[in-house]
Amino acid sequence: MSFRERYKTIKELGRLQGLSSGGIELSKLDTDDLYRVLDEEPGLQNLILKLINWQREKEHEPLLECLPDALEEVRDRVVRSAAMGFSLAASNRSGICEGFDYDNFWSLSLARGVAAFSLSRELKVGNPEEVFVCAFLFRFGALVLAGTYPARYSEMIKEGFQGEASALLRREQVEFGIDHVQLSQALFEDLSFPREFNDTFRSFCVDSGQEGGLSSLIDSAERMAHLCVFESDNRAQRWRDLLDLRTGLNIETEEFTALGDTLIRRWWEWGDELRIPTQPTSILSLLDNIEEQEPEPGSLEDITHPQFVQGQRLRILAVDDDAMSVRMLQRQLELGGHEVYTATNGRDALQAVLQHSPHVVVADWVMPEMDGLDLCRALRRYEAGKHIFFLLLTGREEEEHMIEAFDAGVDDFETKPTRPRVLLARIRAAQRVLDLRRQIVLDHRLLREQLGRLNLLARKLRDTTVTDSLTELPNRRYAVRRMSEEWASCSRQGTDLSLLVLDIDNFKTVNDTLGHEMGDEVLKSFAEVLQSSSRRGEVACRFGGEEFVVICRDSDSAKAIQCAERIRKAVEESDLLKEHKLSLTTSIGVATRTPDVADVGELLRRADSAVYSAKHSGRNRCEVWSADNQ
Ligand code: GH3
Ligand code: MG
Ligand code: MG
Repeated sequence: MSFRERYKTIKELGRLQGLSSGGIELSKLDTDDLYRVLDEEPGLQNLILKLINWQREKEHEPLLECLPDALEEVRDRVVRSAAMGFSLAASNRSGICEGFDYDNFWSLSLARGVAAFSLSRELKVGNPEEVFVCAFLFRFGALVLAGTYPARYSEMIKEGFQGEASALLRREQVEFGIDHVQLSQALFEDLSFPREFNDTFRSFCVDSGQEGGLSSLIDSAERMAHLCVFESDNRAQRWRDLLDLRTGLNIETEEFTALGDTLIRRWWEWGDELRIPTQPTSILSLLDNIEEQEPEPGSLEDITHPQFVQGQRLRILAVDDDAMSVRMLQRQLELGGHEVYTATNGRDALQAVLQHSPHVVVADWVMPEMDGLDLCRALRRYEAGKHIFFLLLTGREEEEHMIEAFDAGVDDFETKPTRPRVLLARIRAAQRVLDLRRQIVLDHRLLREQLGRLNLLARKLRDTTVTDSLTELPNRRYAVRRMSEEWASCSRQGTDLSLLVLDIDNFKTVNDTLGHEMGDEVLKSFAEVLQSSSRRGEVACRFGGEEFVVICRDSDSAKAIQCAERIRKAVEESDLLKEHKLSLTTSIGVATRTPDVADVGELLRRADSAVYSAKHSGRNRCEVWSADNQ
């Protein structure tokens, strides 16, 4: 049965449970009606605008204010696919499958979408907006399966299939005769997404193995997304994978890191818009964490550059088809203090190299099947094999033979029958060569690391310009910029905006009683309380001295008062100065944007004057700006 037929069966079961109606309703509309609906759905309209403007912003084109402009400027299908995609996402944020982590699913989907957008732009593959929606919905079918077969899907997840996508797909094929990516594909075809969208989606699914195509783009996007979403599990390895990916994509490291930064920032922004949870992290903190982690033992790096120091025993692989000779060889080398493994033919030898990653291979020339020279050639084809010192045993010393052997990559010879002392002397010479090679590798690595650190430092420096060094909250400069941005975004979208100004009460007394240094510590703790009692969409910054602001997006006056009261109480209850028998409280001024507030400066002045009133009315209280209390 083809997967499209399987899809029909699932549909006929009447059990497209993962789907609630949002996107499906939209799919039935013709273009005019779609725009009419969008007119009545400002939230959805804004998301589509954001997507279109994101692309325009990158191209330094003027941003669009509303969708009618978009109609003229952008192909209709972007609007339709985005509208359907966002509504499907909005109406399917949770479901009935117990073991399915819906939040994580959407968080990862979003990161994948954002990464795919950037890659599509960077590599000029596909149309970025469409690629965004395709990547965002790429695994949507998993929701449908989870909703249709909740118990079985839960089981599969418990068995650990959710983390590893390809294993999950195989398992789904076995269980349901269709995997979730095929299901997404069939569903979108059925839902009358624009034809071009479906073409793009199909190219995502084709496993053509073609470098630089859409299917490899989704793979790369997914790997970048994993770095954002999965906190602890094996990040260092993921980062190394990504750097490999970077090489494949032909992007410079610096550019790539910048891409990562943008990815994370956009992920947050979109997460906020779509109410999808994201974690506060940055590529900087990722890199910091990774720097602290040692490469895992047994990783490829160990095989590539075996670790040893002068005089230490070497791992040696002795290869000879004659069992007697190989035992003798082993004994001679062991007497020299080395760790010796053996193999009696070329193929076993290759296997043993992978298993033991020897520093030196001592091999007989003449062996059946794969002789010593072929073994050497085979090893030299792999990165890991290039670094091995290859010593060939031979009874043939004719000029032609020796030239052939050196050309095959052999490092040295010893004539048979081997003389134990000469053999060990040759191994010592090998050790000197290996030590030098290792030094060169280390020097290179050091250089690379230093360069990396330098870049990191430069980036941190840039970061410090917007971070307060004492409390690590965003600083005044950031606050001012962010307030203007939020102001502009509210003007565009017609959403609410409020501002809190906080001033710690009687802070001078803290300094006077406990000293300035303790005062600093108290400020830090205060910032922590402030941060932890702020919620999504509330941006806390240190504005200067013992003054802080909280920018509250999407907050009308009532919501802002709630926020202020929550923070005021948290500070009071934290009892930071309990042991010193002092109390720490804060006064908070609240101002909300209304039509008569001319600009962001005016909003700030209002919040400021409200704090002033709070101080006058006895401190440790929240006061809302009003024309009367001026
Ligand atoms: P109130 O706001 O309740 O009217 O009284 P206050 O004592 O907090 O007010 P005031 O603005 O007069 O004093 C603020 C004090 O905060 C003065 C200043 O020394 C102290 N301060 C400002 N920045 C820092 C800082 O970074 N560290 C420390 N330890 N103290 C600071
Ligand atoms: Mg003050
Ligand atoms: Mg004060």
